[in-house]
Amino acid sequence: QSYKSVALIVGVTGIVGSSLAETLQYPDTPGGPWKVYGVARRPHPTWLAKTHVEYIQCDVSNTEETKSKISPLTDITHIFYVSWMGNEDCSMNAVMFQNILSSVIPNARNLQHICLQTGTKHYIGLFETDTSDTHDSPYTEDLPRLKQPNFYHNLEDILYEETGKNGLTWSVHRPALIFGFSPCSLMNIVSTLSVYAAICKHENKPLVYPGTKASWHCFVDSADAELVAEHQIWAAVDPKAKNQVFNCTNGDLFKWKHIWKVLADQFGLEMVGYIEGNEQVSMAELMKDKDSVWDEIVKTNGLMPTKLKDIAAFWFADIAFQCENVLSSMHKNRVHGFFGFRNTTTSFISCIHKMRAYKFIP
Ligand code: NDP
Repeated sequence: QSYKSVALIVGVTGIVGSSLAETLQYPDTPGGPWKVYGVARRPHPTWLAKTHVEYIQCDVSNTEETKSKISPLTDITHIFYVSWMGNEDCSMNAVMFQNILSSVIPNARNLQHICLQTGTKHYIGLFETDTSDTHDSPYTEDLPRLKQPNFYHNLEDILYEETGKNGLTWSVHRPALIFGFSPCSLMNIVSTLSVYAAICKHENKPLVYPGTKASWHCFVDSADAELVAEHQIWAAVDPKAKNQVFNCTNGDLFKWKHIWKVLADQFGLEMVGYIEGNEQVSMAELMKDKDSVWDEIVKTNGLMPTKLKDIAAFWFADIAFQCENVLSSMHKNRVHGFFGFRNTTTSFISCIHKMRAYKFIP
């Protein structure tokens, strides 16, 4: 088969990487037909095998390994960088991205465009830093950088320098909280909540909301992983999107109190929700001894083998359930011609259904 474009997805097993792998193989995807290389550290997962990705097992934090495995891919035309190292260390995250660019740019003569995924932490700061110095929402792409270290700044600086020097185009994507189906993501809120619900069900407990009162009542926005994939592909191929930063959200809003009801229904649970007067209870703390419970759920339901720590990021839910008014504007997208959207409730349910179909959750 002859291809029009060749993608390198760095982080192909992740929440957006796996949706990019799926979307790029559709016959009507813009820029197609696409050949797709996908990179991650773990061995090729069986659930990803049906996407026809040419899978490259590589630790991109290792400069030599990256050079030897990635520089021979001379036909790459577009890079989709949807990875991070799993902590917010500025220098190591920068090394990973730089290793990829140093391996691809000098060797892929037809390279055109680099998509870099960062996120809303650009506006609110890293998880680990003081959150008093944040922007007021709704966030627009032109807001200045916060005056605090953030690995997103390092990644952007590398992107601007490398594309400027080499006559390439770029786009930066700042998605809101992502709803996706990957069981290999470091931050998958839907798999995390589904596992929490499955454990409540297994233990005959109601679905109690452990977050803050304010987070239960406030508006939240999110981004469906397929939509984020479409957004990046749009920017990769559409001249109107070149050399720009874009937020990415579904375009609607939700409240956890409404999604909680949907979650309870999906798992046949009694919904208790937020209990008036309660302080936030840490899900990471609540779930810290549940590894064997999850192993038992996996076994009795004939699920694909996963470990609790891999499929559920309770620490991440703890952060989501204390956030208030974290909302991004999609106005710039409309001006530049991106009109994609999703219904957040439908997105939440379809992620659960997809994880069930893959036997990741009961
Ligand atoms: P995920 O955690 O879902 O996926 C990370 C991917 O990178 C996986 O495929 C992982 O595979 C791979 N990876 C990690 N380390 C390495 C390495 N050293 N070498 C090769 N591959 C590696 O990523 P996200 O999409 O969540 O995160 C990407 C960016 O998006 C981050 O900056 C994040 O902050 C941001 N973001 C995420 C949101 C979310 O809700 N998840 C929301 C908004 C922004 P493997 O483990 O097999 O190596």
